[in-house]
Amino acid sequence: MSDPWVAVSLRIQRALAAGGRPAVAAGFGGGLIHWAAARTPDAVVWAGLTLLAASTGVAVWRRLRRLDSQATTRLDLDLFWHLVVAAYAGVLAAPGGWGGPLHPVTYGVVMLAAAFCRPQAAIATVAFAVALDSGLGHVLGRSGVEIASHAGLLGLFATLNLLVFRAEITRIRKLSRARVEAELQRVKEAARSYRLIGAPQSAGPESLRAPPPRVDEERLLQSGVEEIHQAAELALELLRQALRLRTAALLWLDAGGRKVHVQELSTTEDAIAPGPFSARDGIVAAALARGEPVSVFGRGVASHVPYYSEARAVGAVCGAPLLEHGRARGVLVVDREAADPFTAGEEALLAATARFFLRAIENERVFVQLERAKSEQGKLYRATDALASATSEAEVVKVGVGQAREFASFDFAAVTLFDRASSEHEIVAVSGEGSGELVGQRFRHNQGLVGMAVANRHPLPYRGDYDPARQMVFTRRLVPPAVPSLLVLPLVVRERALGTLVLGSERKGTFGEAVRPILEVLASHVAVSLANARMMARLEELATTDGLTGLYNKRTLLELGDQKLKAAARFSRPLSVLVCDIDHFKKVNDEHGHDVGDLVIKGLGQVLQRVKRDTDIVARFGGEEFVVVCEQTDARGAELLAERIRTELESTRFHTDQGTLSVTCSVGAAAFPAAGRDWETLFKATDTALYASKRGGRNRVTLWTPKLASTAAA
Ligand code: GH3
Ligand code: MG
Ligand code: MG
Repeated sequence: MSDPWVAVSLRIQRALAAGGRPAVAAGFGGGLIHWAAARTPDAVVWAGLTLLAASTGVAVWRRLRRLDSQATTRLDLDLFWHLVVAAYAGVLAAPGGWGGPLHPVTYGVVMLAAAFCRPQAAIATVAFAVALDSGLGHVLGRSGVEIASHAGLLGLFATLNLLVFRAEITRIRKLSRARVEAELQRVKEAARSYRLIGAPQSAGPESLRAPPPRVDEERLLQSGVEEIHQAAELALELLRQALRLRTAALLWLDAGGRKVHVQELSTTEDAIAPGPFSARDGIVAAALARGEPVSVFGRGVASHVPYYSEARAVGAVCGAPLLEHGRARGVLVVDREAADPFTAGEEALLAATARFFLRAIENERVFVQLERAKSEQGKLYRATDALASATSEAEVVKVGVGQAREFASFDFAAVTLFDRASSEHEIVAVSGEGSGELVGQRFRHNQGLVGMAVANRHPLPYRGDYDPARQMVFTRRLVPPAVPSLLVLPLVVRERALGTLVLGSERKGTFGEAVRPILEVLASHVAVSLANARMMARLEELATTDGLTGLYNKRTLLELGDQKLKAAARFSRPLSVLVCDIDHFKKVNDEHGHDVGDLVIKGLGQVLQRVKRDTDIVARFGGEEFVVVCEQTDARGAELLAERIRTELESTRFHTDQGTLSVTCSVGAAAFPAAGRDWETLFKATDTALYASKRGGRNRVTLWTPKLASTAAA
């Protein structure tokens, strides 16, 4: 069948499937019109109504169950067309019928559709309702004006609802989104001002450049800010009560140190301005300049207090600076109406409160850092666990990239491996854009970031600043997507870089100081796992192959041979085994030396590698004896292969000091099941056949036959 026909029939099927259920609703609508137009037997009417109710139930159930956005329009259509028909059935059955007191129910259904459906489904539902309404009106012989007025009302209600309801939903959504964002912003700003974000020494530009905090980080900061707020609230409230204050306010200095704003507050006043105010005026400036509590009282001190938005009579005011390691962070300012000067004891209490406040911040800072470290430890633990269970190189690479996502968000990742022997890098895995062109590409060692990271075993670029126009990652030709943030982590084990993990992000400053150390630790875990996987592969190879020829060894042959034979027996498939032994090999050793002997053994190994098929197993069984297990091969095929091996070896020339040398081999072949049903018997049969070849004059192939067995036994 040609492709277009398949496509067309598929499309028709799909359209039927898509329109099927609404078409059923339309069918019920037709039935309704028929019922209105002509006398219909009661039994038929009841059957129709029952079916309609059942079908509507199905539509409701399907709509509630499926929240898949792709199918929503279709499910909406299905549900609301059914509801429209059901509503009209109700209207017709009720006293007054079409145009009677129950008719407005249909407007309600249309309004519901307009409010809740996808736009296309809403429009289609209104159209369907208008068609059904008009159809019913027509068969019931109502006037054109009446029918038109119904249609008009349906359209009007739907349109109004569409406009009003949707606008309201959009407005509420926008409002709540703005509220959440403002709250997040507030927390972030407070956290930043308390320096909960970023390590103390890296505050400032670095913390501003830090990527947006992840969800668990957000929660952590929020609880930190909340703790500080509660401690401050309690302290200020106590202070206010104990010292008969009107207001106790904590004014916080901004990053530049020129302005303060109200950070925490306990007051009996409503008219409070949040700031910012100049830090160079009034009590704030005095306290900051003195470095210890300052108080004034009497007439005119109101001008010292910055935070009242309306004039207030102030009798006394005191300011105590908050000094952290000698650096001013803010000023605790309190005032009272009575013109009682603040006593030395009261000033000391203020200074103690300021220290308490700083300690609360410091506690939270330590707590946040501990929590962050704990969460990173947990992630690292899980990453190590996942890496430890990855046993192959490819698996380690995959798990490594996956785990890196736990520590930083990136849009591009690649892993390169360095081959010291050829001095080449290979891009073995890419996640994200451009993976198709980059995976599997090899490039010579160069001065690109990958090359340098491998050579110097340091992450690059040094400060995380990456400029795609100036810096080269792989080569000039092989380039990752141009991103503003990039990090090349060398995978170092025992002072050797096995390759690199390259991460790229669309966001500036993604790989700042906050994440680099942990990513470096992860990279070293990936490197260790990679080295382990390689070691495992190497051990596996050593355990299963023969060192001289690289073919399977005897142990592996016995294991695999037995497996293959069992599979052949299970599926009743043919299988053959060959044994090749070099003729008069002792002579080669004697005349040319052991080294040449080895060369000849390797030569036969290469001949076998060359002529075997992908599914055949070739093993060096011992000395100069090789075994081939051929799946799906009967006696005839085995004989042909054996002959091919024999002639290929015969025509191979080995170059020695004493000129060229050629050798021959004898082959014995036996086929399952005729020569044996289990491995031992079958293998013994090949040996019998080999012996026959040797006895028959060597350089020949013998296939096992029952006759051969009886001769051998004799
Ligand atoms: P035949 O035609 O009957 O097979 O005569 P042959 O001389 O080849 O006899 P046989 O197969 O018994 O000889 C095996 C010889 O292979 C004995 C041993 O010295 C030699 N040999 C076994 N392993 C190695 C090896 O790894 N390297 C070399 N160079 N010789 C080996
Ligand atoms: Mg031999
Ligand atoms: Mg031998």
